[in-house]
Amino acid sequence: MTSPGAAATDAFGRRFRYLRLSVTEVCNFRCTYCLPNGYAKSGAMDFLSEQEIGRLVRAFAGLGITKVRLTGGEPTVRKDIGELIACVARQPGIGKVALTTNGWNLARHIDNWVAAGLTHLNVSMDALDRETFSRITGHDRLEDVLAGLERARALPLKALKVNAVLLRDGLDDGFSAWTGFVKDRPIAVRFIELMRTGDNKAFFEQQHVSGEVLRTWLQERGWTPSERGADDGPATEFSHPGHAGRIGLIAPYAAGFCDGCNRLRVTARGQLRLCLFGQGGRDLRRLLVDDAQIGELQDCVVDALTFKPAAHALHAGDPGDMTNLAQVGG
Ligand code: SAM
Ligand code: SF4
Repeated sequence: MTSPGAAATDAFGRRFRYLRLSVTEVCNFRCTYCLPNGYAKSGAMDFLSEQEIGRLVRAFAGLGITKVRLTGGEPTVRKDIGELIACVARQPGIGKVALTTNGWNLARHIDNWVAAGLTHLNVSMDALDRETFSRITGHDRLEDVLAGLERARALPLKALKVNAVLLRDGLDDGFSAWTGFVKDRPIAVRFIELMRTGDNKAFFEQQHVSGEVLRTWLQERGWTPSERGADDGPATEFSHPGHAGRIGLIAPYAAGFCDGCNRLRVTARGQLRLCLFGQGGRDLRRLLVDDAQIGELQDCVVDALTFKPAAHALHAGDPGDMTNLAQVGG
């Protein structure tokens, strides 16, 4: 076990304070790059229970984890998502409770989730016009997502961000709709470069756009990269004097992207994944049966960390055994 305040480290000296925890593989959207045919049930739907999640997070907190992000699939299709947020928030040592959602029911529930202890919110929104949004997600729900975002802005969240996947689709007019969107809204919109998964090879070849396209577009219009804090994620954020918000870029294909990796992942079935694009994982669920197993679970994580690879092999066209991000927890 790690001493209090210290963080677990791997063989490359990377420190881990951030856990991304998938709470379901199920999703109600059909994003073209992720689940174009919708979620297809595979195996029993026995995702981690609230009690198992409580134990898991307590064990990771003892290893120095201070931030937990709930993700999926779509985490908010779980009816007990409010209870899960509260459960994570009450574990000693966890100061940041984050959620990544497609925003379909945000407007209805965000007040309760913040009251339950949610501190950080990422909303995925791939387009600002209704038609493109529907085409990409398979759902005509842009208005609902925007309404949820506006409601979230009024609440005391420590961070509110929008994620958009950088796709050729919808890029005909460049990024001006997005810079317009952040003109008066102090929100960070971060573009994620499309990642190749086991399922999306042909789509990737057709739709992948290098992050350099966005970087050049912004810099030509006076946007400048901001200073980065030590605990910042992998995004480079650009700001502009005439805009309240920022535009960010997450470029997993850029050199050195994995050098600052600070996150561990656990799937909705309790598998520890050392890398999003790795092979297999360690079963932690067998160690979530009883509180007395917490030490054993921590030993298992510390041991697994020594095997964390230096970097993913996406450049070589190898996404590991990751079929789509909904399956592992993006
Ligand atoms: N359903 C939730 C959502 O969409 O926000 C959470 C899970 S989703 C897998 C997490 C994030 O991964 C989303 O922002 C989504 O756009 C992104 N994503 C999914 N597949 C991707 C891919 N192949 N390349 C880049 N980003 C991807
Ligand atoms: Fe669902 Fe999120 Fe995947 Fe879209 S990106 S299909 S919302 S899991």
